[in-house]
Amino acid sequence: MSNQNILEVRDLTKHFKAGGKQVVHAVDGVSFTLARGKTLGLVGESGCGKSSCARTIIRMYDVTAGQILLDGTDITNMKQKELKPMRKKMQMIFQDPYASLNARMTVRDIIAEPLIAHGIVKKKEEANELVYPMLEWVGLTKEHANRYAHEFSGGQRQRVGIARALVLKPDLVICDEPISALDVSIQAQVINLLKDFQEEKGISYLFIAHDLSMVRYVSDEVGVMYLGHLVEICESNEIYENPLHPYTKGLLGSIPIANPRLARMKEKSGIEGDIPSPIHPPAGCRFHTRCPYAKPECGEIKPEMKDVGGGHMVACHLYS
Ligand code: SF4
Repeated sequence: MSNQNILEVRDLTKHFKAGGKQVVHAVDGVSFTLARGKTLGLVGESGCGKSSCARTIIRMYDVTAGQILLDGTDITNMKQKELKPMRKKMQMIFQDPYASLNARMTVRDIIAEPLIAHGIVKKKEEANELVYPMLEWVGLTKEHANRYAHEFSGGQRQRVGIARALVLKPDLVICDEPISALDVSIQAQVINLLKDFQEEKGISYLFIAHDLSMVRYVSDEVGVMYLGHLVEICESNEIYENPLHPYTKGLLGSIPIANPRLARMKEKSGIEGDIPSPIHPPAGCRFHTRCPYAKPECGEIKPEMKDVGGGHMVACHLYS
């Protein structure tokens, strides 16, 4: 029987060695669940740990601490051999479709590769039955199958990347900034493609993006990360209509606004200063060095995640 939650992440921590005794605190104690057939957007500035979090969940990196449950199965410390059947359930779409597609392989071989690796077909030729409909589904044609990735535009390459990730019919796809490298005119097409597949197949997405405007249209829930911590998470509309954490408010202030009156308000709410080094993250609330509302306790005591009503979770002393 399948679980209601396709993904459960509990106190996930990922530290990297950075030379000498230095440690990069990329992800520190992040917890969330992702319901089957839903999308969770994970946002934050570059360096906030969202991509490290995604890559640790898909086990490209070993886990420092915490637990990852995929469809109820604990994959936290699985060896690569044990992980193989789980990878069929969990795929990834990368930010840069050019870098993630093998330049020496044809599009057919790129999409057929996971089918062969997971024993769904034995030979490349047998894969055509699955590859061609997938190509058509992402808006390409059979004729594109014999071409190489460099012959395509950025948007077409991302369609190939999506076809490769979805051909296995996974339960969960981790989308690591899948539209950031694309022209604005192409972004909506790619998002619509992902949404269509979700409606048809009941797939779940963990959608990583650097700003809140990108995830608004796709997400059922949104989580905001700052310097390795999850600072706020709630239902998608709620985060846009009632943001609580000062960092979330700042991120929303950084969304480009056409209306000049609202744009002036935006300037006031922008986040000042740079994100501190994850090698020496600030004590207490990690946002206190940039927060306009910081109190003395903020530099000493880490705020815990608290439900302020209706599942709206926030980690900030203003609400404790
Ligand atoms: Fe600002 Fe303090 Fe809240 Fe951190 S805990 S966001 S420093 S008010």
